Parts: sequence; C-alpha cells; structure tokens
Amino acid sequence: MMHDVVIIGGGHNGLVCSAYLAMAGFKVVVLDQRPVVGGAAVTEEFSPGFSNSVASYAVSLLNPKIIRDLDLAAHGLRIVERPISNFLPLDDGGFLKVGGGQTKREVAKFSVRDADRLDDYQTRLAAVADVLRASVLETPPNVVEGSPLTAIAELIKAGRIGNRIRALGLDLQRDFLDLFAASGGDFLDGWFESAPIKAAFGFDCVVGNYASPYTPGSAYVLLHHCFGEVNGKKGVWGHAIGGMGAITQAMAKAAVSYGVDIRLSTRVHRVIVENGHAVGVETDKGETIRAAAVAAGINPKLLYLDLVDALALPEGFRRRMENWRCGSGTFRMNVALSELPDFTALPGRALAEHHAAGIIIAPSLAYMEQAYFDARTFGWSRRPIVELVIPSTLDDTLAPRGQHVASLFCQHVAPKLPDGSSWDEHRETVADLMIETVNNHAPNFRRSVLARQILSPLDLERTFGLIGGDIFHGSLDLRQMFSARPMLGHADYRGPIKGLYLCGSGAHPGGGVTGAPGHNAAREILRDFRRKRVARAR
Ligand SMILES: Cc1cc2nc3c(=O)[nH]c(=O)nc-3n(C[C@H](O)[C@H](O)[C@H](O)COP(=O)(O)OP(=O)(O)OC[C@H]3O[C@@H](n4cnc5c(N)ncnc54)[C@H](O)[C@@H]3O)c2cc1C
Repeated sequence: MMHDVVIIGGGHNGLVCSAYLAMAGFKVVVLDQRPVVGGAAVTEEFSPGFSNSVASYAVSLLNPKIIRDLDLAAHGLRIVERPISNFLPLDDGGFLKVGGGQTKREVAKFSVRDADRLDDYQTRLAAVADVLRASVLETPPNVVEGSPLTAIAELIKAGRIGNRIRALGLDLQRDFLDLFAASGGDFLDGWFESAPIKAAFGFDCVVGNYASPYTPGSAYVLLHHCFGEVNGKKGVWGHAIGGMGAITQAMAKAAVSYGVDIRLSTRVHRVIVENGHAVGVETDKGETIRAAAVAAGINPKLLYLDLVDALALPEGFRRRMENWRCGSGTFRMNVALSELPDFTALPGRALAEHHAAGIIIAPSLAYMEQAYFDARTFGWSRRPIVELVIPSTLDDTLAPRGQHVASLFCQHVAPKLPDGSSWDEHRETVADLMIETVNNHAPNFRRSVLARQILSPLDLERTFGLIGGDIFHGSLDLRQMFSARPMLGHADYRGPIKGLYLCGSGAHPGGGVTGAPGHNAAREILRDFRRKRVARAR
C-alpha cells in the first residue's frame, strides 16, 4: 500500500504529527528504530519491580490542546502535581522550599527584600511567558525569497506577534528583551540578592543548556521552562502516572485509533529523493516504503547529514547543518531505592512534601558556573548540578510498596570529553560522583541504592539518537530559535527538499515534551496537500 505520509521517528512529536494527519483522513506510517514508541519520553523497568521514565521525567510543556484533541485522558493519561515545586538543601545545613504557597516565607529566611520582590518577578515572567505560549502552536514567520505574495503572508504573521509584544507595554517589553538576550544569571541578579532563590530559578537556565548561567541567551532557556501548565495551572510541573511512557503510550493508542500504522525496530537508513521530491524511505532491512511525503521527528542533523544524499541538498544548507549546535551537558540516571533520602537539612525518612519536590543540589549560580567551567576543562564537574526527583512518592505504580525510584538529572558534563576519551570509560566513575553528590546532603542515600541505570551523553545518543545527548535536538540559542529553527528560511517545517518535513524538537518551538512541533508540522503538511503541492497517494 502506498502511504500519504511516512514519519521517521516515533518520539512523541512523530506520534502527534501522525495522529493529526490520520485524523484528517490520511494514510500514515510511523517508523522507529527502537522496540518501543516514545523516543525520549518512555518508561522502562530498569530493575525487576522498579520502573521509571528513562530520560525525560516531568510534565508541564505538553500542550493542553494536544491533550484534548488526541483525548489522551481517555487513552489513560493522568498527570498529578507536586505538592511543592522545589527543595534545595544548602551547603550550610539550611534549605529552601519553593511552591505550595510557602515561597515567600521561605525566601524571607534569606532576604526579606527578595521575598517582597517575588510577586512582581512572577507576574512579569508570567506575562512574557504568555507571549511565548501564544506562539507555541503557530508556525513562526518564515524568511522567504522570491514571491512577494508569500512574503506578505509572513509579514502578517510577524505583525501578529509584534502586536502581542506591543500589548505588553514598554516596561515589560524590556523584560522580554532581557529574557531573550541576557544571561539568566544577570537577569536574576537584577531581581534578587540571596543565592538560594536565584539557584532555584536559575536551575532552569542550565537544564539541557551546556553553558554557564552567565552565558548570554541562557535567560531564554529559563523562560522556555515556564510556558507550560499542568491541569490548567500555568508554570507548574507535574508527573504522568506510569512515567513519561504513559504520555507516549496514550499518544500511540490515539494514533492507532485513527488508523496510523506504527512499526517498531525499524530504522530508516535513507530518505528516497526523486526529481527533488522526497518520495519515501528505505529501511536498514532494505525495505522501501513509498509515500507522497516524508516527515522526520528526529534531530535535524541526523536527518539531513545521515539520511539524505548530500547531492540532494543545497551546499550552503548542508554546511550550516554541519554546524547545528547540538550537545547538552546532560548525564541521566535512574536508581531503585530501599528507602527515601534522609536529608541533613530536613531530617526524616518518612514521606514528606520535600521528597515529592524537584530536589535541586546546586545552592547558587556561582556553583552552577563553576560546574560548567569544570566540565569544559575536565569533562565533568567536580561538584555537579543534580536534580533528584522521586516520582514514586506520587505514583505507586513504579516501585514495590515501601521502596522508591528516583531520577537523577545531572548537569554539567561535556558532550564530548576534552581529552578525547570515550564516555564508556568514565560512565561508572561519574555515576558514583552523582550518587556521592546526593549523599553529601542525605547520608543514607548511597547505601539505599539497590540498582542503577546510567545514561551518559554517549548513551543518550546511542539509545535515542540524541546527538551529544542533546535533550532539545539542538540548543535553544537565539540563532537556533523561532524563525531560525532549524534555519532561517525553513522555520515552516519544510526543508529544502519538496515533500520532506521536520516534525520533531529541532523545529519550533524546540525541545521538551510539548507535542507542538508535531502538531504544527501536521498543519503545514495538510496545507500542502490541500494546495496540491503534494499529491495524495492513490
Ligand atoms: C535526559 C533527558 C531529560 C529530559 N527531561 C525532560 C522533562 O523532564 N520534561 C520535558 O518536557 N522534556 C524533557 N526532555 C526533553 C524531551 O524529552 C525531548 O525534547 C523530547 O522528548 C523530544 O521529542 P521528539 O519526539 O522531538 O524526539 P525524540 O523523543 O528524540 O524521538 C525521536 C525518535 O526517532 C527515533 N529515530 C532516530 N533516528 C531514527 C531512524 N533513522 N529511523 C527510525 N527512527 C529513528 C529515535 O529512536 C526516537 O525514538 C528531556 C530529555 C532528555 C534526554
């Protein structure tokens, strides 16, 4: 059977794209190299009786329209909120809690002035995040050459966004500029004087961003983590019951219910291009699957450098793609625990609200900056940044009763080691360091670890196709965002080859489990079918 669209990659974006296309009556096949759908949003039993989200682990950015359209709740998705957002154990034995209505009181322990400023900070950040949120399901204005008519359409789009920014008023427009161009560190220093609250907020600007919190542009990464919502509450993070795999399993069920054919353990080896049109793919088993169009939910570098013949691409496009900035400083672990961590700063092994928070071990922006410098010089930070999340405190499906699973999301490690050695030589050493880093604050932690799963940047690349372990399919810096994602002139999900689309995180609005690139790409593909730029399969 000839398909209308073949989708490379059954990550959440590939699945979302497939579902929207199939809902519109198109014949779609999704191919993924892994034996399970979901890409970086999957749950796995990593030790008998203990399951956890393997890579991504928390929900907020997943767009509510997509949840509704695909009826993910009916397909089993349930998302719960954390009782408090964050808990930061500090080096001097103190701690900071954020969220759950306690932030002001908590911040006042360190600075009354900072506590007084919190409301204003949050209101302003939320106003700017609203502008970003409004653009998430839109195709960014594309820079076009040639046709004045197309240029007018793009100008109208740009004008609509300009109006939203104008509506902020001049004062907030200044914040908007800061959040897109400044460093997270400078931005936060402008608001607060005490280190713990700056660390709590500043963590978001180094997540998946191999940079110092004082690197210009890192404030945007902070903002990127704020445009989400959970169960209608803006800016909140939560957990999918059953782990992140519950999201993609629900998406796969939705897609199949509309008629999508999902084929696993099927690696695409080549995109077939005939007369300048993508007309199908060839799998590594030598099977040819022809389709009217091809969409790829994979890192753009993988698509254009590995799967497309160099001669089929304009030389300038290919050269730029070679320089696509990719590689976050991420090291990811899952551990099975015999008991909850007993923090020196807040003693007790019985379940308490701080156990269900995102526990951030990084007490200051200076600590985070040093972590980055260390990683650049030595390959990993001697005092790494770790976010410990124990989802079994909110979800009893993940571990045997009385025991727990925890995710360790660790920044900064070098995507490629400076001395040229392989991550295979250092995986265990660095995993020990991460556990020791938690143990320094919760002395029962090391002995409570029953099993561990370790993913170095190289493992993330091998397992999920995340080049350099890049959690976003390409860093979120100004030259790779919005109209420039993945490249100026191709922000409309269409690449330089007719009939070949990008529907993954390498397209606007970038990484995170949002579903937005998949949703937007499907809309553009359907538009091309409608306008007969692509002819349907017969
Ligand atoms: C460690 C880590 C932690 C994260 N934490 C969070 C978090 O807590 N919350 C959040 O919102 N986001 C988080 N993210 C980011 C988020 O998970 C990703 O941005 C998102 O899952 C990417 O989705 P995608 O569908 O675009 O691509 P992917 O999930 O990368 O899916 C692409 C799929 O394509 C497949 N593929 C690649 N090449 C081929 C080929 N040639 N043939 C066939 N199949 C192929 C891959 O196997 C993969 O399944 C995290 C990511 C990582 C890695």
